[in-house]
Amino acid sequence: MIKYKLICQSCKISFDSWFSSSKEFEKLKAKKFLNCHNCNSNKVEKTLMAPRLISNISEKNQIEFKNLKSVKINKKIKEYQKFIKNNFEYVGKNFAYEARTLHYNNKKKERGIYGTASNDEVKELREEGIQAEVIPWINDKTN
Ligand SMILES: [Zn+2]
Repeated sequence: MIKYKLICQSCKISFDSWFSSSKEFEKLKAKKFLNCHNCNSNKVEKTLMAPRLISNISEKNQIEFKNLKSVKINKKIKEYQKFIKNNFEYVGKNFAYEARTLHYNNKKKERGIYGTASNDEVKELREEGIQAEVIPWINDKTN
């Protein structure tokens, strides 16, 4: 699909329109099927602005683009993980239990805790007013 910015020569209004290809645009124009939606004139022209190609990226490029994005995200997550590992105590699957213990016993721990919890557990903790943040986690082993 190609998006063209079209301009009406009669009323000077400009608008965006989608075409399956540049040929389709030429074909429609030749047949005078292109009308200004404002004044209905068929003196509609492409503006000089370069057409923007939208979903015409090859599949390979799309995949590469996705990978590029996830690499960046992974890097960010890894930074978080490093910070958390250095500053928080790992409690594994006991996270919900440990979080409650800290909350209800009003224990002051110097370090926060981190571990795993199910979505339900996190929801319950939050309902009880216990602060719990969910962050994406990447297993080191996958690297
Ligand atoms: Zn017009």
